[in-house]
Amino acid sequence: MDNLNYKLSISLIVSIKKGLVYLRVVDLINKKKVGIPLTKAEIHFLIDGYVKDKIPDYQMSGLLMAIYFKGLTKEEQVNLTEEILLSGEQIDLSSIDGICVDKHSTGGVGDKTTLVFAPIVAACGLKIAKMSGRSLGHTGGTLDKLEAIPNFSIDISSEDFLKQVNDISISVIGQTANITPADKKLYSLRDVTGTVDSTGLIASSIMSKKLASGAKSILLDVKVGSGAFMKNTEDAKELARAMVNIGNSFGRKTVAMLTNMEEPLGNMVGNTLEVIEAIETMKGKGPKQFETLCYELASQMLLMNKIAKTKDEAKKLIKEKIKSGEVLNKFKEMIIHQGGNPEVINDYTLMPTAKKKITVKAPEAGYVESVDALGIGIAAMLLGSGRENINDEIDLSVGIELEKKTGDYVKANDTLAFVYSNGKNEEQAIKKVLDSYHLVNKEVCVRPLIIDIIK
Ligand code: URA
Repeated sequence: MDNLNYKLSISLIVSIKKGLVYLRVVDLINKKKVGIPLTKAEIHFLIDGYVKDKIPDYQMSGLLMAIYFKGLTKEEQVNLTEEILLSGEQIDLSSIDGICVDKHSTGGVGDKTTLVFAPIVAACGLKIAKMSGRSLGHTGGTLDKLEAIPNFSIDISSEDFLKQVNDISISVIGQTANITPADKKLYSLRDVTGTVDSTGLIASSIMSKKLASGAKSILLDVKVGSGAFMKNTEDAKELARAMVNIGNSFGRKTVAMLTNMEEPLGNMVGNTLEVIEAIETMKGKGPKQFETLCYELASQMLLMNKIAKTKDEAKKLIKEKIKSGEVLNKFKEMIIHQGGNPEVINDYTLMPTAKKKITVKAPEAGYVESVDALGIGIAAMLLGSGRENINDEIDLSVGIELEKKTGDYVKANDTLAFVYSNGKNEEQAIKKVLDSYHLVNKEVCVRPLIIDIIK
């Protein structure tokens, strides 16, 4: 049978079956396999059936693989997102007085941006009610970082969460509600069937969770580079466009920024270390690259919500709020409301601290051409700072401090980095840090941090 006839016969079978009351999964797999888009009703049938255990993993695996090869149209992505969204609870933020905003990062090495971004936008008049997942990765997620603060609770009731956001404009907690169960089930299957890296599936997965979290305004930080999920700009742009389209289709103001993740963000990688760097940044003493990213993202959010008319005005406002101490104070208020010890702001030793600080020295002179983000992430993971499985214990105290970054000049024996260790895989981690530095003998051009903005 030639391709056209095959397509037609499949459509026919499917429509006849629909007319006769039921759909067959195998027909839908065949339909997708030849690139015919699935209808809204068919996507509902598939996701609903899968969540209710009426469709087995082996058939869903076949469908996911067909999607992997044929992709999803914009309409299919929106319909899939809606089905995933409707599979669970949605957070109702309507009792919050003000504009509720949210930010999502596709994840990178040393990414502690939420810890600074959230207090900035709260200090500038927006409300941020953020639910974070406990992500896998080289260093834990935002929740793990916050748990480096003694007694900080990420586990508060929905009522207290909403009240806190109304009272002080900011809260970051773990997921309380049962949001997007379809995503959890589908993601686990994608993970073991080689179908994670499909733009349409990633976009629907991320956006269903963002939409379920209830914010009206969503800013997406799509990382690009060796330490990111998306290794090249073209793939990252495609993902960003897909997510922005989905967000806007659901009536949420959505913007994506593509940002560089070739080298780690800031100088610190590791949970306690990243909290320290975030606090230093809120004190106006953070590393330039990280500070720039926080200010760029926050400016974009202020522009999206008309808190500022121009980027310059937004930046000026942010700088004033940092200088006056209002941003740091927002962070402090959040710590107090969530039961943590606010003294950490002045005394970093109150957080888990590694036993050893080991200096990693440059074997030769040269300009740093690159510091491989993935390599540094793996080094931190070897020391115990990240998890491979969701129930793994992590060591909040360990990590890496980068003394030199891309573009810097080093002499032989200069310090490249410090390794904060409690002994686990120490030699391997040190070697990994050394191998992550690439030195050359001519000056190096540093790539821009903001690659593109997709609206
Ligand atoms: N992160 C998600 O939440 N979903 C994906 O599919 C990929 C990354």
